Amino acid sequence: MKRIAALVAVLPIVFAGAAWSKDDPPKDAAKAAAKDPVVAARMAAAAAKPDSTKNKDLQSAITPDAAIKALKEGNTRFTGGKMVKRDLMKQVKETGKGQYPFASVVSCIDSRSGPEMVFDQGIGDMFVARVAGNIVNEDILGSLEFASKVAGSKVIVVLGHTSCGAIKGACDDVKMGNLTALLAKMKPAVASVKETGDRSSKNYAFVEKVAEANVQDTVAAIKAKSPVLKEMADKGEIKIVGAMLDVTTGKVLWY
Ligand SMILES: [Zn+2]
Repeated sequence: MKRIAALVAVLPIVFAGAAWSKDDPPKDAAKAAAKDPVVAARMAAAAAKPDSTKNKDLQSAITPDAAIKALKEGNTRFTGGKMVKRDLMKQVKETGKGQYPFASVVSCIDSRSGPEMVFDQGIGDMFVARVAGNIVNEDILGSLEFASKVAGSKVIVVLGHTSCGAIKGACDDVKMGNLTALLAKMKPAVASVKETGDRSSKNYAFVEKVAEANVQDTVAAIKAKSPVLKEMADKGEIKIVGAMLDVTTGKVLWY
């Protein structure tokens, strides 16, 4: 009960950070905000200064396409070694009383696939759910629903990566402890890839095809298992997209 009481106490604060009524859905709010000259000026200022933390007006004004563009630009900065110089403690202070992230990412736990790093983002910019093999379950779907419906995130990126150990494990039918059940969630992707030759992790091309299929499966699973997110996507309030990180280059390829 204590935990529930604590959650109830916190929720109004969270909702206050990114709330909207049914009469004022995010899509319309974003359109209206984008036309507002004050907001437009803030967006221009923020674009010129990518280390600035997001505020409510800015988050409302960002469209799903603009969110994807910002992530692409961040990855270009990352691969070009031109990351934004951020004062992270300044960002901590700016976001301490509220967060207005513009993107959500589901990525693998792989040590090379940290979303904030590969997309060159700072404190308060994005929600990140990480699990080996970038799959979704009820808990992650609930997290994504919170991120988009409650907190105003504009895009969900399912980020797979090359040379994924979880995908290799699924290809090789590895069985070990709790990993067995996790890898089972990637088996449909393994089965969907047509390969008459070597279907083991030794076949690099096969593994990469399975990784891509797994990203597509996760994107489809989000839409199929979350009516909340599907409705938002259908209305154009958010986009749900897949992408693949090449761990040899740091470059993200978009589907
Ligand atoms: Zn992985």
